[in-house]
Amino acid sequence: MVGTKKWVVVAMPHEEDIKKSHKAYNKLEISDKEAHACKRKEVAMIDICLLGSGGVIPLPNRWLTSLLVKFKGKMLLIDCGEGTQIPLAMTKWGFKHLDAILFTHYHADHVAGLPGLLLTIGNAGRVVPLTLIGPVGLAETFEGLTVIAPTLPYAIKLIILPTNYFVEVAFNDICIKSNPIDHTLPGLAYSIEIKRQGKFDAMRAKKHNIPVNLWGVLQNGESITVDDSVITPDMVLGAPRKGIKLCYCTDSRPTDSMVDFIKDADLFICEGMYGDQTDASKAVNKKHMLFTEAAQLAKDGGVKEMWLTHYSPSLKEPELFVEGARDVFARTVVGTDLLCKRICFED
Ligand SMILES: [Zn+2]
Ligand SMILES: [Zn+2]
Repeated sequence: MVGTKKWVVVAMPHEEDIKKSHKAYNKLEISDKEAHACKRKEVAMIDICLLGSGGVIPLPNRWLTSLLVKFKGKMLLIDCGEGTQIPLAMTKWGFKHLDAILFTHYHADHVAGLPGLLLTIGNAGRVVPLTLIGPVGLAETFEGLTVIAPTLPYAIKLIILPTNYFVEVAFNDICIKSNPIDHTLPGLAYSIEIKRQGKFDAMRAKKHNIPVNLWGVLQNGESITVDDSVITPDMVLGAPRKGIKLCYCTDSRPTDSMVDFIKDADLFICEGMYGDQTDASKAVNKKHMLFTEAAQLAKDGGVKEMWLTHYSPSLKEPELFVEGARDVFARTVVGTDLLCKRICFED
């Protein structure tokens, strides 16, 4: 057990939950008031930037795989290998507003950049708490890495997730779901989801005599009281509409549960450690994927678009192998450092 109090655990799996099967679906209770339930506020878009696309070691022209997500002024980072703060600086999205860092697992190419990044965030002026989210082992990994960054001007909160079943965490207005990966270490794939409420029905609002100045409160997913009657949002909103779903999976073999997990995602970012089919046995032994295996996952999951990432350092030109993946799933994109995309609600 690690002892010092420079961080606080705000959520972790319950003992009895850990024994449940891989297929069970649980919601973590988060004691932190700030991590409240998704409020389903009306929003327009999410910005995504693949900071790096390499696996194992950073190369002069390829940073290690990590993903930056911006939504309503809040930012999430997934994975933080050595040097991640450099492409993050290149985005000019700023460090101060990085609110959460998620980890897929604790191999060095996904975590070794954390201490430097935490110090840079402090230098950028952050004083409000930062949340770290990751599989079991997070507290120990954090404690070990921050021996060289012992003092930070903001608090750290840890949300520790199980690695043997699906979990959903509400983080501000973002729903973060996790699914076990099949790798040489236990770990998680993530789904970042923005829910979207139904259309506001003005006729129903008028029928309930709701003053127009309170319509916005209901649209933001909060209840109001009118003439001593409680009006809940579902009384004036139509059925929920399609939101935005972004999935990130590295490092892993393809699994059946992953197909369900990424179902109908707007964007699926997936590892493609090897492009050449002759590396198939290497992919199995080292618990990674071929491009074609990532493409098959994308196809089976019915996603809209798939970006490859986490290339082996020996894979100098990933584009040479992409056609094989496109034969399986046409909308396969060769992920590159600082590849960005904005996803908006459909209508
Ligand atoms: Zn890796
Ligand atoms: Zn790994």
